[in-house]
Amino acid sequence: MIALDVNSTTREVFGNIAPWMRVVFFIMIAASFAVLGRQLLAHLRQWRKGQTGGFERDWRVWIRRLLEYGLAQKRVHKKTLGALLHLLLFSGFLVLTIGTTLLSIAYDGPYYFHHGWYYLIYELTMDVFGVAFCLGCLIAMYRRAFRRKPSLGHNWGDWWLLSLLLALGLTGFLVEALRLHYTQVQPWLAHWSIIGWLLDVTLLRGVGVETARSMHLASWWLHTILVALLFATLPVNRFLHIITGPLNIALRPERPMGTLVPLRMETVEETGLIGVSEIKQFTQQQLLSLDACMECGRCEDACPATATGKPLSPKKVVTDLRGLMSLGDGSVNVHGTIQAETLWSCTMCQACVQECPVLIGHVDLISDMRRYLVGEGKLSGPPARALQQVGNQANPYGRPNSDRLAWAEGLDVPTVETNPGFEYLFWVGCAASFDPRAQKVARATAQLLKEGGVNFAVLGKEETCTGDPARRIGDEFLFQERAQANVETLSRRKVRKIVTPCPHCHNTLKNEYPQFGGQYEVQHHSTLLAELVKSGKLTNDTGDGEPITLHDPCYLARVNGEIDATRAVIGAAKDEHFREMPRHGKKTFCCGAGGGRMWFDEPPEQRVSNLRAQEAIETGAKTLATACPFCLNMMSDGMAGTPGGENVKVLDIAELLLSRQTPG
Ligand code: SF4
Ligand code: SF4
Repeated sequence: MIALDVNSTTREVFGNIAPWMRVVFFIMIAASFAVLGRQLLAHLRQWRKGQTGGFERDWRVWIRRLLEYGLAQKRVHKKTLGALLHLLLFSGFLVLTIGTTLLSIAYDGPYYFHHGWYYLIYELTMDVFGVAFCLGCLIAMYRRAFRRKPSLGHNWGDWWLLSLLLALGLTGFLVEALRLHYTQVQPWLAHWSIIGWLLDVTLLRGVGVETARSMHLASWWLHTILVALLFATLPVNRFLHIITGPLNIALRPERPMGTLVPLRMETVEETGLIGVSEIKQFTQQQLLSLDACMECGRCEDACPATATGKPLSPKKVVTDLRGLMSLGDGSVNVHGTIQAETLWSCTMCQACVQECPVLIGHVDLISDMRRYLVGEGKLSGPPARALQQVGNQANPYGRPNSDRLAWAEGLDVPTVETNPGFEYLFWVGCAASFDPRAQKVARATAQLLKEGGVNFAVLGKEETCTGDPARRIGDEFLFQERAQANVETLSRRKVRKIVTPCPHCHNTLKNEYPQFGGQYEVQHHSTLLAELVKSGKLTNDTGDGEPITLHDPCYLARVNGEIDATRAVIGAAKDEHFREMPRHGKKTFCCGAGGGRMWFDEPPEQRVSNLRAQEAIETGAKTLATACPFCLNMMSDGMAGTPGGENVKVLDIAELLLSRQTPG
């Protein structure tokens, strides 16, 4: 038996490569990095044309996000071919890059550690991840050739890139096999370089040692040239995202998903600008984010506007803006390329933002451009009227604000005047105050709060629109006017806890009012009702025995992460008749009302609510529960406009729960 001296096992770095060739190698790699650096600098100059700031400054956030979205690829995990190939390519590229860097450190550094068990495990690891890398390239090629989804960006440059990556992987293995062959390594050692060994004993059988040595040299040069080519061309192909993606992931400002950035009057006075009309008016971080897009199409696949044939694709907004940025002149007008209809089509449902693996903020981009259109008076028709009414009557329905309590007639609802010692302020919201259908939600909620023994009060005519529709449509100063007035009222009434049946009011009060000094404990009615059910103060025993499904409102589930309380209120877990829709929870699909779309006219074939109603009908449910007055309206219309929908009741969870209480 041969005694194995594992500790002395290693291989010569640059074996078979003459000293002058090593010099040429280093010059080539340095030149390719110089080209890469030069091109990256050109991108940097483009980003620097934007408004200063906009970057996240907390390094702890950078690290958390890089681990979560960069290393662990949180947004990419899915059971799809695209996710699999990305995982293979990403892990392969990462490990091969780290491995090559370690080898350079061992070669150039003061301590040569590339030997013994470290060396053996290194060789095996590099082979395993090399296979993953090549497999990823092959699956990507197959997908592009035969299974390409329409939303996936594609051009001939992608074939070049994938061929280059695959050739890199294959020549790497070839170099390894030829090295094993000409060095005549003992089999036990060669087995650790498993792929090279397999190629050696199959393809290179019968090849002479000297021939193998010459072939090794030739394939090493080919491999080196490919590496240099990859780095030199990296910024001109989709691979640029391996640099810009992590940069944007780290540097995107941290704030709750449903929060838009306030526009300051001083800034407007200083710059004369409202919103964005030219590329350079975006922030530097927003311009960087455009270069992070890899055109994966995930945002487009999730977009309700794209799904209903509207002239909006979030991916195209990003790539169009990137195209304009690359023209080099930051003064180029964005509205010549991105049409107003595109911007108005957005429901601000945030599905695109949630899907994007590199954390691009599509909604911020769209909102900035909308602000410009509104500032220029380019909004007309019903949405413009709704804004006017928010300005004049403090609600988008144009009703006198003194009618705010009409919904409560006969209910003896406590107000801040009759019950100044209230614990919860019941923020009703404009829809539940004025819309006849949604008023029933306000009534049901008030009745449940009373039955549950909650000490609450309403503001009555002191409540005004939160300003949410104004902010989403793009009238930022109208929003701020409402926000400041409401914060003043809430302070005067010493409000600490708020409960509301409207997810849009909930989001604005909770996430956006802190920008104006308003800090409250804000609950959506679902969470408070769920607590009352849990404590036994309300009962949610058995439905009517008919199939029921639930539509998660975007601003409750996706934007604010609340998906359990709605289900708890309707007793989904114990109801054998409960059926989930395919798109539910945080992956819910919009009803079509958000982003001010509630006030836009749209042809029936473009109604998001019809598409969503169809999905609900296909579950076989006879009741569609929801938890938003806007969803309630949209889904009722959707059911009315969809065959089979006439048999489906649309109810708010509060109405459902009220129907389950024992009379008296
Ligand atoms: S927010 Fe929603 S509607 Fe707007 S672009 Fe994104 S996915 Fe489409
Ligand atoms: S914006 Fe994000 S999700 Fe959309 S295509 Fe680009 S990288 Fe993909």
